[in-house]
Amino acid sequence: MSQNEWFYIIRGKKTGPVSVSDLTALVVSGRLQPTTLVWKSGMADWASASSIAEITAALPPPIPQSEIPQQRGQFTTCQNCGGWIVAFSHRDADGRVFCSRKCLHWFNGPRTFCGKCIAETTDESVGNLLRLNGIGAKLMGQGDRCPECGSVVSCLIVTVFYLPTVPLKRYRVLYTSPSSFHTRRLR
Ligand SMILES: [Zn+2]
Ligand SMILES: [Zn+2]
Repeated sequence: MSQNEWFYIIRGKKTGPVSVSDLTALVVSGRLQPTTLVWKSGMADWASASSIAEITAALPPPIPQSEIPQQRGQFTTCQNCGGWIVAFSHRDADGRVFCSRKCLHWFNGPRTFCGKCIAETTDESVGNLLRLNGIGAKLMGQGDRCPECGSVVSCLIVTVFYLPTVPLKRYRVLYTSPSSFHTRRLR
């Protein structure tokens, strides 16, 4: 049972008490921010909502990409992948917001292959092949992570009825968001 024990500060006014599920609903609706100060009996002082495990644990996980409509209302979107941020955002030193720690790293990390990775590959990218994904080509495996640019080695594999067949070619893959990446074929 969730009790009405939480207070929060909105526009300089103390509001509450409400339950954890009420707080969660306010966060999801965007009325409360991760930085909103909350307090309940037993806490020494007000603390930001995002620092309270009880609140973050009650939040739903991010909405799957496929469920997100094109139109973007008042929600904040991720600087890197453009996905909506429904729960708590990750902020970098310049105040940019991201949906996940991964997106933050991708955005601030290398956006291109390092010299060593370029040297061991050719300009040939997976390009059009992957757009045939529906009829069966995909990148599998993420090995040999480059310590400098973070690219990984994957095999391009043709699938027949979703069953992988022979590996075709090997590529270095540099991810820049959960669904976008650059590829260079290994020599
Ligand atoms: Zn993102
Ligand atoms: Zn590299």
